[in-house]
Amino acid sequence: MITIENYIDGRFQPALNQKTIENISPYNGKKYATIPNSQEEDVTLAIEAAQQAFPTWKNLSIEVRYDFLNQIAQGIQNRFEEFVQAETLDNGKPLSLARNSDIPRAISNFKFFAAAQMTFSSESHYASGQGVHYTLRQPLGVVGCISPWNLPLYLFSWKIAPALAAGNTVVAKPSEITPYTAYLLTQICQEIGLPAGVLNVVHGLGNPVGQAIVESPLVKAIAFTGGTQTGKAINEICARQFKKVSLELGGKNPNIIFEDADIDRVVETSIRSSFQNQGQICLCGSRILLQKSIYDEFKTKFLAKISEIKVGNPFEDNFMGAVVSEAHMNKVLGYIEEAKNLGGSILIGGKRKILSGDLSEGYYIEPTVIEGLAANCSINQEEIFGPVVTLIPFEQENDALEIANSTPYGLACSVWTRDMARGNRLAEQLNFGLIWLNSWMIRDLRTPFGGMKESGIGREGGVEAMRFFTEPKNVFIPYT
Ligand code: NDP
Repeated sequence: MITIENYIDGRFQPALNQKTIENISPYNGKKYATIPNSQEEDVTLAIEAAQQAFPTWKNLSIEVRYDFLNQIAQGIQNRFEEFVQAETLDNGKPLSLARNSDIPRAISNFKFFAAAQMTFSSESHYASGQGVHYTLRQPLGVVGCISPWNLPLYLFSWKIAPALAAGNTVVAKPSEITPYTAYLLTQICQEIGLPAGVLNVVHGLGNPVGQAIVESPLVKAIAFTGGTQTGKAINEICARQFKKVSLELGGKNPNIIFEDADIDRVVETSIRSSFQNQGQICLCGSRILLQKSIYDEFKTKFLAKISEIKVGNPFEDNFMGAVVSEAHMNKVLGYIEEAKNLGGSILIGGKRKILSGDLSEGYYIEPTVIEGLAANCSINQEEIFGPVVTLIPFEQENDALEIANSTPYGLACSVWTRDMARGNRLAEQLNFGLIWLNSWMIRDLRTPFGGMKESGIGREGGVEAMRFFTEPKNVFIPYT
């Protein structure tokens, strides 16, 4: 049994009330760890530590901050396999995904923002005959980072790394469902001698822990990734305090396929965009919009490929592992039942998969494809966040555009066509923060990342993140 502890002011400690919460591994439904059931008082300690550490951290030279962030990256690299195993145990994702995506990306996040703060420049504006304006970008102080369970360390580090790089100190909360790799990360921070209080991690439930971070007037900004309902509640609190907030929320992303697309390539990519990480990626293309003339061809090839997908023990060679929790599994299965009640046909999957032996209590769901539902029904409008996609036929480009834009979300969209004029024309009209032409989930850490509408506000990545985590002041110097 693993005992996960808070990391506050450079020290590991239980919750002040000594209470704990059990952690269950989704791959076998068994308890494997406890985390502190922290309360507001623990968050208060963390904020105090971060406040004390701020003056020193912000005044360090960029070279020293660069070294610290790179040492964190190297620390993860040194214990790479331990991180991989921990992420799979905690989340249920296949080892191969943790090994090829989650943990390498967490390392890249630290390396990238270590370098980004070295080249982060501000603007100056020449005022003819008068003087020069220049922009001073300073760290904000103590900032709060709150992350979800689907890409635990990947998203945790995506917030913490730029926050620290920009000279802020951090109070962070990982999802209580997937705390393990964040805990390992704090061990590395202690090992490398990151100054006490620079990064504080408080484990526990969204409310009270996340809530207390958001509500504290001493926390100057909140970077949040998670569900839209939670994001709305956080946004309201931040609005009352005029607090800076960045929200990366849910999605109901369309995967639009035209008749001139390379169907085999689309099928290959759609397997990943539908079912990678058990469909629990905010960028997954859960609505597959198909031009009528290729509907049957795509459907036949797609279903044939899905029938080859191996769902099973994430520690073995399977493309799909377990979904993250029993509650989440039941939510996803509930949506499948709702789809049937609405008249949808389940073309493949549609059930929980019960594995044998020790894994019989794990949370596995078969990859599921549904057709025959109206584009405006709940299944095609709400985020399911599991291995469930729908097929929706369309006639012309305008129909596809209307259906694609018809949900409250606006995170990501793929468009498959050989006609690049059409692809670029649609990119202008699709209301999504990320648009992939003939591709899916090609990421570059320099580019702006985020959604429109109820998928969030603000952008992360590259210079956007550095700007979010700093306050610009304009300074004017006259010539005379
Ligand atoms: P939640 O919104 O439930 O939780 C996200 C984080 O917020 C967790 O750490 C959670 O803690 C915490 N939290 C919960 N309530 C509060 C509160 N009142 N105040 C402050 N913090 C709180 O999301 P999930 O963890 O279920 O993650 C899945 C969601 O994340 C999906 O909707 C998905 O689309 C979205 N997501 C968006 C991405 C994007 O970049 N746009 C990327 C990845 C995921 P606890 O776990 O203890 O409840």
